[in-house]
Amino acid sequence: MTNHNLFVALRDAFPADLDATAIETCDGPVPLRYSWRDIERATAMLANFLQWLELPPGARIAVQAEKSVEALLLYLAVLRAGYVYLPLNTAYQSSEIEYFIGNAEPSVVVCPGTSFSWVSKIAFKSGTQHVFTLDDDRRGSLLERAAHHSDRHIPAQKSADDLAAIVYTSGTTGRSKGAMLSHGNLLSNAQVLKDYWDWKPGDVLIHALPIFHVHGLFVASHGALLNGSKMLWFGKFAARAVIERLPEATVFMGVPTLYVRLLAEASLTKDACRRMRLFISGSAPLLIETFERFRERSGHTILERYGMSETIMLTSNPCRAEDGERRGGTVGFPLPGVGLRVCDDQGHAVPPGVVGHIQVRGPNVFSGYWRMPEKTQEEFTNDGWFKTGDVGKIDEHGCVVIVGRSKDLIITGGYNVYPAEIEGVLNELAGVAESAVVGVPHPDFGEGVVAMVVPRPGAALDGDLLIAALKAKIANFKVPKRLFVVDELPRNAMGKVQKNLLRERHDALFSG
Ligand code: AMP
Repeated sequence: MTNHNLFVALRDAFPADLDATAIETCDGPVPLRYSWRDIERATAMLANFLQWLELPPGARIAVQAEKSVEALLLYLAVLRAGYVYLPLNTAYQSSEIEYFIGNAEPSVVVCPGTSFSWVSKIAFKSGTQHVFTLDDDRRGSLLERAAHHSDRHIPAQKSADDLAAIVYTSGTTGRSKGAMLSHGNLLSNAQVLKDYWDWKPGDVLIHALPIFHVHGLFVASHGALLNGSKMLWFGKFAARAVIERLPEATVFMGVPTLYVRLLAEASLTKDACRRMRLFISGSAPLLIETFERFRERSGHTILERYGMSETIMLTSNPCRAEDGERRGGTVGFPLPGVGLRVCDDQGHAVPPGVVGHIQVRGPNVFSGYWRMPEKTQEEFTNDGWFKTGDVGKIDEHGCVVIVGRSKDLIITGGYNVYPAEIEGVLNELAGVAESAVVGVPHPDFGEGVVAMVVPRPGAALDGDLLIAALKAKIANFKVPKRLFVVDELPRNAMGKVQKNLLRERHDALFSG
């Protein structure tokens, strides 16, 4: 029986020379080199340890850890052992972690040593049996425990539909939803991208993205692993340090903010990029100005692609010249195997050029939201297409152009912020009657989060104190960069807050 475990496909792509370097760290005190054999052995030990815990079938392993090679190895080991990986943003605070753990009911939680006391309290209260620690310097109880297990392991038998990961996306109406991705979803997308992005022998990837999100965890890591390609591994993105390593690399993946930061460095030159083959951008809209400035400075045309947690990658600008030109301001063509249509409010497909709701289907599209059958049903059409929540059109070349987000999402520095969630937290604070949160253009982050807060009658609100209160409750990237105390919010005849007016009012807030 064929084993559809994604780990098996990735391992089958390892090069013949298992002692060659697979991953080299770039930002620690000394570079660490991990061979392909190291990946094989370490994932076997971790997988054996997880199986020794005798977890129930389909057990979730929730991981909130700083980026490290070991955290990636843990992800691969979870696949290998046949459990379900649940990555959590390192910025999440206790109320957020409490929700994810309560909702996903993981059997194992892994966290940094410094968070152990509060994370374990939450986890044990929710019925999690095991909490281990993992730090970004290879310390922690997880590796200590795994070290006692065999470095040989037969990957668990999996079918393509078996669950491999749950990725939480924030919900527009407050609560996050766990997108359930199968081994088949992840592998089919990785294989399509390997071909479409023309991965070649000798390619070297600069991996400078976080690994709690689809971009860094799936698109970047799977890309390199499935091609047997070396990764130059940055725990944190640092523009100057990345540019220093470009001459050794051929592929770079980033969110638009990273490109803006690269452009701010004088050392970004055509010479520095001489060996590079491909710069890829996604997760948020790439400004045409960034696209053009990058081309002038580096001599490379950024390939922009579009995807989301629920679907992994959906569209891409061409990689090979014979597939066409890379067009700035577009996210390219639907990937092979991906169906994409644009519909009006009634759900009827509209012709090219007309703006509407983007719907998709394909082997990469998730099966639904974890324990939210009604939400799942709402987000799929009767004929099985997933409603992305993005608004866009197909242009005259057949390329997809995204013009907005019906779900009101703000993307700041590549991270998603849902206004409804921030508004909910603000409205709970003493003296707050109501609030509205919008995203406005920001030169560095793409969009900056801005909040308008209306005080209760007689209450005097201090913006700095409100920001401080938010910082204690939600991840820093969600905290508004500016907060205004106002007498009232603009509303339309239906009583809805006119967020478009708020956006217009503050349009130049960060650029002026
Ligand atoms: P996430 O689930 O965190 O990956 O966020 C997915 C959302 O990011 C999509 O629904 C889009 O709104 C947005 N997105 C991703 N890539 C692009 C892109 N290249 N251009 C514009 N928006 C994008």
